[in-house]
Amino acid sequence: MQQRLFIVSNRLPVNIDTDNQVHLSSGGLVSAISSYLDDNHQLNNIAERVWVGVPGCSYNTWTKVAPSIPDTGYSYQPVFINKKNYDAYYNGLANSTIWPLFHYFPSYAEFHNSQFDAYLQANREFAHVLGTHLHPNDTVWIHDYHLMPLAGMLREQFPNLTIGFFLHIPFPSFEILRIMPTRWQRALLEGMLGADLVGFHTIDYVSHFLKSVQMVLGLDNDIHTIRYNNRLVKVDIFPISIDFDKFHDAYDHPEVTERRRVLSEQFGKRKVIFSVDRLDYTKGVYSRLKAYEHFLALHPEFREQVVLVMVVVPSRDTISKYAERKKMIDEYIGDINSRIGNINWQPIIYQYQHLSFTELMALYTCCDVALVTPLRDGMNLVSKEFVASRKDQRGVLILSEMAGAARELTDALTINPNDTEETAMKLKRGLEMNDDEQSRRLAAMQDRVRQYDVRTWAADFFDQLYSVKSKQHNFEIKFLDAKNKAQLITNFQSSRKRLLLLDYDGTLTALTTHPSYAKPNQALLDLLHDIASNEQNDVFIISGRDSATLDEWLGHLPIKIVSEHGANFKLHNKDQWLPEPAITNEWVEPMRAVMNNYVRRCANSFVETKQFSIAWHYRNADEEQGAIRATELYNELLDYTNSLNIQVIRGHKVVEIRNKGINKASAVKKILQANAYDFILACGDDVTDEDMFALLAPVPSAYTIRVGAYASHAKFNLHTPQMVLSMLSTLHNLTAGEKQLAAG
Ligand code: UDP
Repeated sequence: MQQRLFIVSNRLPVNIDTDNQVHLSSGGLVSAISSYLDDNHQLNNIAERVWVGVPGCSYNTWTKVAPSIPDTGYSYQPVFINKKNYDAYYNGLANSTIWPLFHYFPSYAEFHNSQFDAYLQANREFAHVLGTHLHPNDTVWIHDYHLMPLAGMLREQFPNLTIGFFLHIPFPSFEILRIMPTRWQRALLEGMLGADLVGFHTIDYVSHFLKSVQMVLGLDNDIHTIRYNNRLVKVDIFPISIDFDKFHDAYDHPEVTERRRVLSEQFGKRKVIFSVDRLDYTKGVYSRLKAYEHFLALHPEFREQVVLVMVVVPSRDTISKYAERKKMIDEYIGDINSRIGNINWQPIIYQYQHLSFTELMALYTCCDVALVTPLRDGMNLVSKEFVASRKDQRGVLILSEMAGAARELTDALTINPNDTEETAMKLKRGLEMNDDEQSRRLAAMQDRVRQYDVRTWAADFFDQLYSVKSKQHNFEIKFLDAKNKAQLITNFQSSRKRLLLLDYDGTLTALTTHPSYAKPNQALLDLLHDIASNEQNDVFIISGRDSATLDEWLGHLPIKIVSEHGANFKLHNKDQWLPEPAITNEWVEPMRAVMNNYVRRCANSFVETKQFSIAWHYRNADEEQGAIRATELYNELLDYTNSLNIQVIRGHKVVEIRNKGINKASAVKKILQANAYDFILACGDDVTDEDMFALLAPVPSAYTIRVGAYASHAKFNLHTPQMVLSMLSTLHNLTAGEKQLAAG
């Protein structure tokens, strides 16, 4: 069946005016997605594009106007939310809680359960509309903070749907996120993890998100990939951009050229500083005015020689914080103009309304300095548009380091928007910058924006989305069926040198209430002995256990042992243990003290101290209490990980600390460097075995098996340790005639 693409955003990209005329928003997103799909038509086989969102009109109006929407290649699916609910969802939770909080304005954030419920309800309405149209193999791309729980809701209905989520605003540090009620934090994060790919603008937002997922949900990540509900979720950086050519080429449009001429004539010799942003407390308009006033005070020689053209675009003015802001700005501008200006000169030319594209372009291209000073901004497109528009390679960008764009536009003059002194100084520097430097800086920034424009952004997102989807297919639960088992046996029989990597607990023996109870019985010892006695088999027990116990239980067998997840090696039963050279253990004692606190705080939990690692087990504790304490302990231990070169991992009912970089994959790498094998079998039951499975995933001769019904990098699953033993026994019986190791 052909796939369809559903783009989901709070508002449909259509506006319906009072005369029921339809106007399409010419957002970069629409054209970027279209251009990706047109270029990759064969690749992703998307037959239909559907946009889903709130139409901004009543049901009756929509049915009247829908047929007159011009053909854009998209069909539009409206979501109707009743006015009261929409207000609580949109003006309430989205714009009076998430927006201020995520932009580091916690004191502006409101916390009303009724609004949160309305937010979830609105997301459910979206899920309902989507649910009535989606097929399981469609692709859905959800946009922004209004719809953070939506992916999770869709995932419940469509377990295999391809879902991307992109957040257009910053993702704040965990200390900010945790200000909101825990239930809300969980709902937002779990909702986002319903997607296959979660995208942010910058590495900081990615790190904050990953840290929040660790702290709130107790989920670790492996190079930006999270395992959640038996699925892999990828988290990555996609700095949104603009249509470079559109802004670059517009420089020469006749209307823009003419308007630029008129404006330049009007400003005469005066230098022009230009700023444009939506009315929003995050945009730093007030501090910008303060800095400009300070600049004029410090440098009176610039009076009458310079003018600040400040355009504020109306936005969300029904929300009280926005209306207050507008009043403050109006008053402050009036104050500066009346105090500092005179009959011949107004320091600030102020406009509170939208600009046409021509007007915006004329201002971008006639100004001397673009002053962009948000206190926080997810990305900030104005700065990129200014850069792209300057085909003449003139002009200076002053950019707040709090904007996501500052990460890319490193040739701007960056400022801290709260630092009036610095901003005033950079204004002077910008106004006096020579042509060569202007052009050098702009050329470098133009290169960046040209290379990673909005088309590349969309293409990058889709490529990653389909790539994670194909990785997920390898990560599903795939029980070893009769056909594959037969193939495994054939390959085993026909191979000449075999490597068997066997985890111990949970793989060769069932998990017990205490590690010491898992002593091998005679049947297991005999089986290991027999398999390992075959000269063609190299049998490794590769375990997280301590060396002494493994030695005591298995040391007499002709097997090789790797203990403590790869920290310690014993390659012959008469050898000494050979620890990894870089390994340390002076941190074990202090960490034991931390873990012991949790033994006191969680009945029936216990600490297992090994030579190079230490583990807190809660398999015998009350399930709920154990899980809560495990998250607390894990979070506390994370604080130590950077300074101590250790790693905290959460396994099945265990929180463990080990040396960084030492794991079962590093051990297997070492084993493979020492010998060549034409058959590999690796069996394990826990997350610590995943490193080894992932390493062996691309090796064709390797069979990797995870015990239990868990999604895994392993190629197959088996239900129980008993099934592993039975398979090993079959393999042994079929090859029993092969040459045996000389005794001793
Ligand atoms: N813009 C607009 N109307 C105007 C002036 C500007 O729509 O009258 C556009 C501007 O070209 C830019 C966007 O608004 O594309 C602002 O994006 P930005 O990322 O800078 O800030 P946001 O408003 O999304 O927070």
